[in-house]
Amino acid sequence: MPLIKASCPSCGDVELTLSDLKVMVCSTDGRASYNFRCPKCTFRVSKAAEKAVVDVLLSSGVTMSFWRLPLELDEEHVGGPISYDDLMEFHYEIAGSDWLDRLNEKKSRSEE
Ligand SMILES: [Zn+2]
Repeated sequence: MPLIKASCPSCGDVELTLSDLKVMVCSTDGRASYNFRCPKCTFRVSKAAEKAVVDVLLSSGVTMSFWRLPLELDEEHVGGPISYDDLMEFHYEIAGSDWLDRLNEKKSRSEE
């Protein structure tokens, strides 16, 4: 099986087989990357890939998978970002054992 040279950020150049590589393409914006598990340190390495690199990898037999950006990115957001105070308030809100009852009570009041 042919060997492919790739670069791990920690280990430097490593040799891989075609089955060690996987091409990932974002179906939302078309960005592509390839990834592999480094045979030396076992960390997963992912690198952005231009179309020419993707074409070479795919024509060599590397498998390809698609993914998409989460739909939440298209949602309209109102208000400021969550602050540390908001997080602490939420923490204290759910610290008691009756938090679900209080939440349902607030919900039923707001639906009236
Ligand atoms: Zn490595």
